[in-house]
Amino acid sequence: MSLKFSRRTFLKASGAVTAGVAAATTVPKKFLSWAEETGQKDMKQIPTFCELCFWNCGLVAKVENGKVVKVDGNPLSLRGRGRLCGRGNAALGALYDTDRLKFPLINIGKRGEPVWKRATWDEALGVIAGKMKGIKEKYGAESMALIYHGTGAAFWKHLMHAYGSTLSAAPSFAQCRGPRDIGFVLTFGSDVGSPEYYDFSKSKYIVLFGSHLGENAHNSQVQDIMNGLAEGAKLTVVDPRLSNIASKADHWLPIKPATDLALILAWIRIIIEEGLYDKEYVAKYATGFDELRAAVQKYTPQWAEEETSIASDVIVRVAREMGEFAPNICIGAGRFSAWYGDDTQRSRAIAILNALLGTWGREGGYFFPTGAKVPEYPGLPAYPEHVEVAKLDEVYPFALLPTTTSIKQASITGQPRPVKAWFVYGSNLMKTMPDKEETIKAIQNLDLMVAIDTMPMDIINYADVVLPECTYMERYDNINLGKFKGASEIALRQPTIEPLWESKPSWWITKELGNKLGLAEFFPWKDGEEYLAKRCQAGNIDFAQLKRDGVIISKGGSPYITAESQPEFGTPSGKIELYSKQLAENGFDPVPQFTRHKTPPAGYFRLLFGRAPLHTFSRTTNNFMLTDLQKENSLWINAKKGRELGLKNGDYVSLINHDGVIASGRIKVKLTQRLRDDAVYMNHGFGVHAKGMGRANGMGIADDDLITKAAIDPIMGGTALRGNFVKIVKGA
Ligand code: SF4
Repeated sequence: MSLKFSRRTFLKASGAVTAGVAAATTVPKKFLSWAEETGQKDMKQIPTFCELCFWNCGLVAKVENGKVVKVDGNPLSLRGRGRLCGRGNAALGALYDTDRLKFPLINIGKRGEPVWKRATWDEALGVIAGKMKGIKEKYGAESMALIYHGTGAAFWKHLMHAYGSTLSAAPSFAQCRGPRDIGFVLTFGSDVGSPEYYDFSKSKYIVLFGSHLGENAHNSQVQDIMNGLAEGAKLTVVDPRLSNIASKADHWLPIKPATDLALILAWIRIIIEEGLYDKEYVAKYATGFDELRAAVQKYTPQWAEEETSIASDVIVRVAREMGEFAPNICIGAGRFSAWYGDDTQRSRAIAILNALLGTWGREGGYFFPTGAKVPEYPGLPAYPEHVEVAKLDEVYPFALLPTTTSIKQASITGQPRPVKAWFVYGSNLMKTMPDKEETIKAIQNLDLMVAIDTMPMDIINYADVVLPECTYMERYDNINLGKFKGASEIALRQPTIEPLWESKPSWWITKELGNKLGLAEFFPWKDGEEYLAKRCQAGNIDFAQLKRDGVIISKGGSPYITAESQPEFGTPSGKIELYSKQLAENGFDPVPQFTRHKTPPAGYFRLLFGRAPLHTFSRTTNNFMLTDLQKENSLWINAKKGRELGLKNGDYVSLINHDGVIASGRIKVKLTQRLRDDAVYMNHGFGVHAKGMGRANGMGIADDDLITKAAIDPIMGGTALRGNFVKIVKGA
C-alpha cells in the first residue's frame, strides 16, 4: 500500500493562498487606554491568547501591581474578534487556582497509589534524563512516546525529535477529529481545518450532524453561524438531542443514534436521482460519479426511514431544500467524529454530499483559507537520522498521524515494537482515552511515565514524575498560526505575570532536560522571548508589533473559486474522489456503505455525551469562576421514559454499563423532552477522580468510566466512543 498523498500534504491542508506578511492594523488606541482613563498609572495591558480551549482566542490581560485583574477579548484576533466565551473570561480562575501544581513531584509510591515527594527541578529532571538515557540504550529512542494536547507541546515534540523519537500523538486525532479529517482528505485531498473553513456567515442553508455549536463555544464560529442565521440562513440539525443550536433550526431531525450514515446515503441518492447536484461542478472537478450513483441505489428514502426513524417525506424535503440552496450551503463536517467505528466512511459521505452540491470553494460553503508561515529557529542542527522502525500504525493504512490507540497497544503487547516511556503533556488521559483499565495496564508496563500539567488531574496519579507547567497566562509559547477566510493570523503568547510558585514554561523545562540529555545544541535560545524574536526576525515579522498587538493579520487572496483561482485537490487523481480507488486497494468500501450497529439491550440506554458551554472537559472543572456556574454534570433522560422509571428531576442516580462496570460517583437526573427515549446524555469532563482537584473531585459522573468498549475505525485507528450502553441505578 502506498499513500498517494503525504503526511505533509495533509498537514498543509488546502490553503489555496499563502500570504506574505503585510502591515497590519494595530489595536485601537481607545482599547488600550483603560489605564489612563482610570488613572491607574501602574496598569499594564498585555495581549496574549487563551488556552482554555484550542480555539486560542486573542485576549488582553489587564495587570495591576503584578496581578492580573481582568481579561478582555483582543479586537484584532480573528479567532475571537474582541470577544471571549465564558471560559475565556475565567482566565483568573485558571491562573490563581491554589490547587495548581506548584512544585516538581516524584512518586515514591506506586503508579495509581502515589506517595509524593517534593523535588527540586534539578532533581526531577535528573531522574527523567537518567531514565531516558537507559531506555534509549536498551530499546531505542523510538520506544519513547509523547501524548499531548495544547500549544506548549511544540517544545516537547522538538525535544523528542532531538532525542531521536518521532512518536508523538494527540488524542484529538484518534479520539476526536481524525475520522472527519481523513474522510475529507480521502475525498478532497484536504482536511477542513481548525478553525474549520466553514463560510457560515454567508450560508443560505446549513446542515449539522450531532454538532452542538454554542454548547461547544467555538468563539468566531458561533458568531459566524449566528450571523448566518440572522441573515436568513435555513438550518437543519440531525441529533438525537435537541441541542441549543437544534432549538434554532428549521428542521430538527431526532435521528436514531448510530444511523446518520443511512440518512446521508439516502440524501446522496435523492440528490443524484432528482438531478439536484451541481452538474457542471461535478463534471469539472469530481471523478467516480457513475460508481457513486450505482453504489447508493439501494438507499431509498423508505429504507432510510426504517433505519433512522426520520420520516421519508422529511428526508426528501430536506434533500430538495439542499438542492434549492446549493452551492451556498454548508454541510458541516463536525469535529468530534469518533462515534461508532465506521466514522471515516460517515465523514466521507458528508464530504461526498458537499461535493455533489458544489460547496467546496463556494460562498456559503467551504472557503479556501489564507495561511501564513513563520520560519523555524535559524541554525538548529539536523535531527538525528531515524532508523527504520516498525510503524505502530501500519495496521491502519490511513492513520496519517500517529494514534494513541497504537501507542497504548504497543505499550501493553510490545508489538510491533516496544513502547517503554510516555511523556503526557496537558492531556488528562483518564478522560480522553476509552477503556480506562486498559490505559492503566499500558502505563503499568512502562519504564517511565512523566506528566506535565498545570493542574493535578486524574492522570497525575499514574506518573513517576510530575512537572508543574505554568499556565498560559505566565509564559511564552509557540507561535500560533491561523488560516482564515481572506486573511491569516500570527498570534503571540507572552507572559502577563511571572510564573507562580515554582511552575515553569515548557520552553524552559525542555531546554533544561535537553541539557541534561546532552542535547544542548538543539536549545541555543537564551529564553522564550529570544526564541520567538529570532524566528520572527528570520521571517521578516515585526516582533515588536506582535508583542504590542498580540496578533499580526495579513490579507490573502480569493476564498472562493474564480476563473483565476482554481482549486487544487491533493488526491491521487487530482480531483474530488466520489469513488476512492485508494480505499478499494486497501480492502475498504470505495463508496461508503451502511452497516447496522447494535442497539441498546432492554433496560439500557445508549450513552451520549458532549460539551458544556462553560467548561472545557476536565481542564476547567476546578476553575472557581466556572464551578460557581456549573459544578457537576447532570443526566438527561427522556421525561416520559424517566417517569416510567420512577425518576424525577434532581434525583441522584448511578450508572452501570453493559460490561457491569459501575461509574464511581452519582449524577443528578434531568428529565427533558429534548432527548429521544433510547439514549441518555451528559456533559463530558466531570466525575474527576483526583484528590488534588478540590472543587472538581467526585462531582458528577465521568462518561469515560463507562466507555469500556470502543470499536476501532479500521481505516485510521480512531476509537468509537458512542457504542456503550448504560442502565440507571436508583438511590445513589
Ligand atoms: Fe478561550 Fe473561549 Fe476562545 Fe476557547 S473559545 S479559546 S475558551 S475564549
